[in-house]
Amino acid sequence: MSPIENAPPPSPETPPPSAPPLPPEAVEALYARLAAALPEPRSELDYINPYTLLVAVVLSAQATDKGVNKATAALFPVADTPDKMLALGEDGLKAHIRTIGLFNSKAKNVIALSKALVEQHGGQVPADRDALEALPGVGRKTANVVLNVAFGMPTIAVDTHIFRVANRTGLAPGRTVGAVEDALEGVTPDAYRRHAHHWLILHGRYVCKARKPGCAGCGIADLCGWPDKPVAAGAP
Ligand code: SF4
Repeated sequence: MSPIENAPPPSPETPPPSAPPLPPEAVEALYARLAAALPEPRSELDYINPYTLLVAVVLSAQATDKGVNKATAALFPVADTPDKMLALGEDGLKAHIRTIGLFNSKAKNVIALSKALVEQHGGQVPADRDALEALPGVGRKTANVVLNVAFGMPTIAVDTHIFRVANRTGLAPGRTVGAVEDALEGVTPDAYRRHAHHWLILHGRYVCKARKPGCAGCGIADLCGWPDKPVAAGAP
């Protein structure tokens, strides 16, 4: 799933360019299109189990999925459980992830969260938001990704891509990440909740890009409410 490219979401003070809220029938149609184009979307982060997914998401903050996958390809075969990560140690971990931004603080967090998992959760990743958010280096977005991807819960983790797409299209306009998450929870039909996160991230990553949205080839252009879309230039 993120950078998880996870460039950080805009600050709450940044007014996003946004369209008026879409009517429910347009919301339904938008999700139906995204679902038809990609019925079973998957995270673009590589992982083996819930623990390695959690570690990958923590490492992906302000980094690309590709960069994280490159580092974890060698890391996860030797450290796919909290116990093995603790045995590897902070220095051993750093040697694997030093190509990833903020690797020093991320290594500290991964070791600390591994210790907490062993001491408080029997070495298992809890399928519980509060327990996840109590772990070092784990915020709401990371918890949402883990609950969704590892445990199949209908959570919607708002990253910079979803924030942009939700505002531009009018799907779920909001000035803050929290406001967009609440709006998405409110408008997303039950049938689409499980995969909404991935559909919107992938649409933002590959089509509705930050600087140059691909409106001309966008499959939801006729539903999108963004007033600046250059539809006349050849959109479907
Ligand atoms: S029409 Fe353009 S602005 Fe609207 S969702 Fe598609 S790419 Fe984004």
